[in-house]
Amino acid sequence: MERRTRVRFAPSPTGPLHMGGVRTALYNYLWAKQHGGDFILRIEDTDSHRFVPGAEAYIIEALSWCGIRPDEGVDENGQVVSVKSERHPHAPYRQSERKPIYRQYAEQLVKGGFAYYAFDSAEELAALRAQMEAQGQTFIYNHSTRGQLRNSLTLPAEEVERLLRETTDWTVRFKMPEDRIVEMDDMIRGHVEVNSGTLDDKVLWKRADELPTYHLANIVDDHLMEITEVIRGEEWLPSLPLHYLLYEAFGWQDTMPRFAHLSLLLKPDGKGKLSKRDGDKMGFPVFPLKWVNAEGEVSRGYREDGYFPEAFVNLLAMLGWNPGDERELFTLDELVAAFSIERIVKSGARFNPEKAKWFNKEYLRQKSDETLRDAYLPILKEQGIQITDGNEKDFDGGKFSKEYVKDVVRLIKDRATFVKDFWDIAPYLFRRPTAYEEKDVAKFWKEENTVLAKELATFIRSWNGPLEKETFGPAVETYIKEREWPMGKVMNCLRLSLVGASSGLGIADMICLIGLEEFGRRVDNAITALG
Ligand code: GLU
Repeated sequence: MERRTRVRFAPSPTGPLHMGGVRTALYNYLWAKQHGGDFILRIEDTDSHRFVPGAEAYIIEALSWCGIRPDEGVDENGQVVSVKSERHPHAPYRQSERKPIYRQYAEQLVKGGFAYYAFDSAEELAALRAQMEAQGQTFIYNHSTRGQLRNSLTLPAEEVERLLRETTDWTVRFKMPEDRIVEMDDMIRGHVEVNSGTLDDKVLWKRADELPTYHLANIVDDHLMEITEVIRGEEWLPSLPLHYLLYEAFGWQDTMPRFAHLSLLLKPDGKGKLSKRDGDKMGFPVFPLKWVNAEGEVSRGYREDGYFPEAFVNLLAMLGWNPGDERELFTLDELVAAFSIERIVKSGARFNPEKAKWFNKEYLRQKSDETLRDAYLPILKEQGIQITDGNEKDFDGGKFSKEYVKDVVRLIKDRATFVKDFWDIAPYLFRRPTAYEEKDVAKFWKEENTVLAKELATFIRSWNGPLEKETFGPAVETYIKEREWPMGKVMNCLRLSLVGASSGLGIADMICLIGLEEFGRRVDNAITALG
């Protein structure tokens, strides 16, 4: 029978989600939606030592910002669901709340001879490890050592019973076969074989906190939640043989999910994995959202850096996957249609921060002027600019209409990567210059240029046609050309008076925006200041 596609993203709330984690969630989501299936969020929080407060809420908020909405696991209020319902039939979705489920499965493995009780204390094991290291060997708890250790395979049955009853620091360990070729298939890497003799007897369940370890909880939950594909980071590939053997031991092979292990994200120079610290060292975010840790250290986020979530999702999708052609820009829906596991690359995907910005620039250009204007308004307010619903363009009072802001945005948006760039691109569209760049003054404000610029200014001030770029711009150019004046020098003189520097937007564009009156004021001011 064809099974309904069900995938899960199963983060451990041990800190903020790295962008690689978001990519894993995204690929799972794309796979689920492409197959008309379910995307589940499960929180793997059985390791209480590594639990970080706020991490779970961060994960939920980050996914929500990206538009990656779980079908199961999180409800509309952004809470991880604890109570079963039609929509959330497998609740609770936090493994810590599923605690009573796992013990029986651990016991089942012991009964079947696939696992055993281990009574060695942490101190005993540490001593053994140190002793073997002193002899230049590494200690591994498996077929080579388990026969000499304190466990249910070596101790008499009554002693085992007594220890189970009277002590609380025992564990259940998987009995890794001594010499078996485990044959596995990965959707990205193909066929993989590993000899089980090199692997250790992993702890599956701990009496001390009555909690499963990752391996047991993960397999049991994937089975109970009817997961069909496990798409996760390649750091879990070494655990795959154990997971295969666990499915076998439980007799769940027929419904075992298929596995796809994603390659790592690499540093911009390709040397090593992109780590959580790299962003702050190299000046780009590695987290979707800003994160403040318990020590008060702040890590920057894509959201706070000014990325659009669509751009972030798009750039993440392209890190390690491509559509097989030249296309680079995809909405989430387009990604759902185009995605394929076959086109995921096996090698690590190098992160290019410049390319990340390119994506944002592309998305910014696609946004409507209204949307960009609305995003710009708070920045203008911070700069002390008042925004009105009327038709103000008041340079003295610093009051401007929303309509004017929209015109500004239309003119400058092609030069911006982020909305936060808008102000720096052209503050002079809201504020009259009060100083003039010295080196530009020295270069351009020369008698031979200023006489011409002043004459041109007189022509402009007397312009009585409509102040529209299409007619006004060419008229100014023609005026200069007919007189065979040096275009660049004359324009730079005028720009100095309008901007306070010789770089900036086109003269005609600016004048059409700020108006002839303001133009005149700025020219007069420059002449007063510079002569
Ligand atoms: N809890 C694991 C993690 O945080 C999940 C691994 C898996 O998807 O199986 O990476």
